[in-house]
Amino acid sequence: MKKVLTIAGSDSCGGAGIQADLKTFSAHGVFGMSVITAITAQNTQGVFAVQDITPEMIQKQIEVIFEDISVDAVKIGMVSKTETIQTIAETLKAYNVKNLVLDPVMVSKSGFHLLQLEAKEALIKNLLPMATIITPNLPEAEVITGFEISTVEAMEKAAKAIHDMGPQYVLVKGGHLEGEAVDILYDGNQFIYYNAQRIHTKNTHGTGCTLSSAIASNLGKGLTITQAVEEAKNYITVAIEKSFAIGQGVGPVHHFH
Ligand code: PLP
Repeated sequence: MKKVLTIAGSDSCGGAGIQADLKTFSAHGVFGMSVITAITAQNTQGVFAVQDITPEMIQKQIEVIFEDISVDAVKIGMVSKTETIQTIAETLKAYNVKNLVLDPVMVSKSGFHLLQLEAKEALIKNLLPMATIITPNLPEAEVITGFEISTVEAMEKAAKAIHDMGPQYVLVKGGHLEGEAVDILYDGNQFIYYNAQRIHTKNTHGTGCTLSSAIASNLGKGLTITQAVEEAKNYITVAIEKSFAIGQGVGPVHHFH
């Protein structure tokens, strides 16, 4: 069985973060492992507190996994702050990491900063160049590039600028644009467009985590990048269609086999 690791934060209500990642891994038939970077106290209505895990503990979690197990793909999600980012980057460098999917998690849908503002530079400098693929949504692409993005052309320009920062592939997700949702994959040479009908639901908690984990699962299973993204898009589309309410706020997507 293929083995896929998430390095990310815990979401106590189970809709996003490592919980979403592990559910996605199981749904894809890969064995999921987790290095926890931070614990959030969270429900469908918001994030109420965060406790960061120490750099020593993050380093140790990564080391013991890689010393023992061959990892087929890695997904990185919530990384909180500069120290956490540096620890992850430095520790991973000792290993031959295959298929690194970077979800540059910044602000939750409820408006909570899951990445400290001053940690942006460390993310760009330390993690972007290591990524096989980075999966920013529009607000994240705006923070990374400093551009204002409100058209598909602006998404293409941002994808190019982010590609120049070092990742092999850039997937700019257009879900925040008005109208039809278009995602753009850029390999440094050409663009591939993924069009999907917009699904009207308020229950979209954990969509970004789920998409990036689906891509990591697919890469771990040996799919090409374009196949991995296409299948992950199909998965998240159905997962959103089948999303449901579990509390009073934004409910989770549905993980299915
Ligand atoms: N909590 C954690 C630990 C996350 O990693 C993320 C997103 O990556 C979120 C919450 C935010 O989820 P959403 O914005 O989909 O509600």
